[in-house]
Amino acid sequence: MSLPVVASWPAHRAGAVLTIDLGAITENYKFLAQKVQGATCAAVVKSDAYGLGAIQVAEALEQAGAKEFFVAHVDEGLALKPALSAQARITVLHGARPQALAECLQAGLRPVLNSLEQVAELKAYAHSTGQQQNAVLQLDTGMSRFGLSGADVALLAESPDLLNGISLSLLMSHLACADTPQDPANAQQLACLLRYASVLPKAPLSLAASSGIFVGQNFHQNLVRPGAALYGVAPNTQGPNPLQPVVRLQARVLQTRYLKKGDRVGYGLTWQASGPCRIATLATGYADGFARAGATTGCAWFEGHKLPILGRISMDSLTVDVSGVPEAALGAETLVDLLNDQYGVDDVAKAEGTIGYEILTSLGRRYHRVYHNQPSPV
Ligand SMILES: *Cc1c(COP(=O)(O)O)cnc(C)c1O
Repeated sequence: MSLPVVASWPAHRAGAVLTIDLGAITENYKFLAQKVQGATCAAVVKSDAYGLGAIQVAEALEQAGAKEFFVAHVDEGLALKPALSAQARITVLHGARPQALAECLQAGLRPVLNSLEQVAELKAYAHSTGQQQNAVLQLDTGMSRFGLSGADVALLAESPDLLNGISLSLLMSHLACADTPQDPANAQQLACLLRYASVLPKAPLSLAASSGIFVGQNFHQNLVRPGAALYGVAPNTQGPNPLQPVVRLQARVLQTRYLKKGDRVGYGLTWQASGPCRIATLATGYADGFARAGATTGCAWFEGHKLPILGRISMDSLTVDVSGVPEAALGAETLVDLLNDQYGVDDVAKAEGTIGYEILTSLGRRYHRVYHNQPSPV
């Protein structure tokens, strides 16, 4: 039934194995849904479910009880639609460009209206079809990225006929500082959303994404929109991560060699051995989306041994210090971990000076992908 959205390179020919635990994703979903009791817990599966496979992830989440899914683009919604049941609703965060609006609505995708232009386009479409059209209205409460401004809201409040033919099934906004729960901007954005909603047609409200769920119960409103938390990314830096890790990335050792003091490694010969050591070259590089940038503090892991990355990362390979591992335990063909339960996306992100979101969405297309705990088809 399910079409793979990314080619899964055969294990014996791939340089690395990416294991995605759909069971952990559904456990994370249930944990979040439980936490927001009373509000609907949607699932954000844009950007191919943050690189993990939108179809596989959404199918598993639907079986776990999710009914509301969010993507960014019409194309993503069209690709996902056939994988879900008719009861599942897919909302398109960017809405539809005028040329794609009919296709979007006829496929049963719900657009987000981010501007008065998009409101007018949907009104005209509704008029042309003679049918009421269902949409989400996004309100800009301070992030200045998407949605109607305060002036736009005032205009809609004064001229309700601008919404003729449109039934608003959700009013939404997005928090800019939710990963810092005590930031006063959070409360200001919530107050702004409530103020705007008070002059618009009555509809359920949505403000929180992953981090917002942990800011406070009053941020849950009627619907929350987690993405990253489903995939194990920590919602903030305060306290332990309550979400389960979801991905394991294992790279194959291509070669090992012994170096003597003074030998150097990699492009630019930027790393130099301070004494005898043993190193291994792994079949994963920056073209696989792993550890680009500086990555001077990054490492791989093998049976509890930390393997520091040496020198610059190449396109298709990187080199690690394996001096601490018994020689017989690691050689060509051995798989070593670049991501695992103890060293996850947030740890790699920290080593690279970025965020867990970027590590996930950058994961390459050359891995052999394995899905654990895939639900059986209904
Ligand atoms: C991406 C996105 C989300 C999900 O955000 P996470 O931080 O990954 O939970 C929710 N809402 C909007 C509008 C988004 O763009």
